Amino acid sequence: MSNTRSSRTSLALTGIALAASVLASPAAHAQAKELNIYSARHYQTDQQLYDGFAKAHGVTINRVDSDDAGVMQRLRAEGASSPADVVLMVDAARLSMADNAGLFAPIKSGALEKAVPVQYRAAATADGTTWFGFSTRARLIVYNKMAVKRADVDTYEELADPKNKGKVCTRSGSHPYNLSLFSVMYEHMGEARTQDFLQGMVNNMARSPKGGDTDQIKAVASGECGVALTNSYYLARMMRSGNPADRAVIEKVGVVFPNQGSWGTHMNIAGGAVAKHSKNKQLAQQFLEYLASAKAQDYFANGNNEWPVVKGVSLPNPALRAMTGGKSFKSETIPVAVVGKHQTRVQQLLDRVGYK
Ligand code: FE
Repeated sequence: MSNTRSSRTSLALTGIALAASVLASPAAHAQAKELNIYSARHYQTDQQLYDGFAKAHGVTINRVDSDDAGVMQRLRAEGASSPADVVLMVDAARLSMADNAGLFAPIKSGALEKAVPVQYRAAATADGTTWFGFSTRARLIVYNKMAVKRADVDTYEELADPKNKGKVCTRSGSHPYNLSLFSVMYEHMGEARTQDFLQGMVNNMARSPKGGDTDQIKAVASGECGVALTNSYYLARMMRSGNPADRAVIEKVGVVFPNQGSWGTHMNIAGGAVAKHSKNKQLAQQFLEYLASAKAQDYFANGNNEWPVVKGVSLPNPALRAMTGGKSFKSETIPVAVVGKHQTRVQQLLDRVGYK
């Protein structure tokens, strides 16, 4: 049963509570309210995040931790019998994929509509809204301060300019972080220019795409790459690290919030949704509403060095402050939901230009 499935999708059951919810008799179910959360987040502050809600609502929270692909695979496999109530995922591309696969239940929540800017949630339909972002991360450019001039790499488009030939490194083009960025660029530039851009990126590569964002930062510091893309929290993590090796890396790299003179820096989200087949939809919705509270925003956003999505909530974070020089920056205003519309096409363009 679900155990074999879990091992195949490399899911880890957190605590014995989930096993209980799957195996318990109906009598045991009736005794306490339970909320089953399938989470692709795995940050130290998440336990506090869950505890806050559990205490306030007298609920037992059961977590299934996996990566986004694992969460999606499990929801698909379980279908209508899935015990999932809440789904937490990172990246607009993944939330859109799960949404397009019909894995989320639309909800109508005045509280969430008020708290979460339109830009950072799914497009509303007559049935409601399927997913909401709860934190934002910026897709930044990092460059080697010795080898590259900042003015040559302060927009995304310049990464495809021949002047940066042999300098560019990224993780896989079809990784959701890149798919999201390129999909938003597609919205701005249209198909022909997006294809040219992606072709230019491929032409400029210092090496074939590999590794994660942190690997790109390190390769920029070592000089193997001149310039790379990274999500802001990977940089923040290294800036806050006690490891001298991480500090040495940070010393060597310059950080750009791209496109300040045009459409602004691409912002992605981590977010959540009510699971399509939840048997506790009301409680699940309450959990999402809780995530928009100031305290939960502290755990949710600050715990991974991200910015809170909720208007009016500001959280002191030394690394983020250092990264921006304490100043505000111009961020992209196109709703991240466009990612769901364009990512299939963008993947086709990636294949066409040979962006691995
Ligand atoms: Fe990440």
